[in-house]
Amino acid sequence: MTTVARIGRLKGPLTIRCFTCAHQVTWSVAEAIRRFGGECMVTDARRRLACSACGERRSRCVDFV
Ligand SMILES: [Zn+2]
Repeated sequence: MTTVARIGRLKGPLTIRCFTCAHQVTWSVAEAIRRFGGECMVTDARRRLACSACGERRSRCVDFV
């Protein structure tokens, strides 16, 4: 049961990388919580991620690193 808030506490800022085009963004924990809500499961957040550069949405290709 890993929530966005929990991973933020453990790891600090969240880096999200697109494996299709290598675009990478870093969100502060506050930014991630604002987008997903602190109680959002990381697995759910991952499903909702999309690359802002190429639009890749496959959860396998856009991930927290
Ligand atoms: Zn991309």
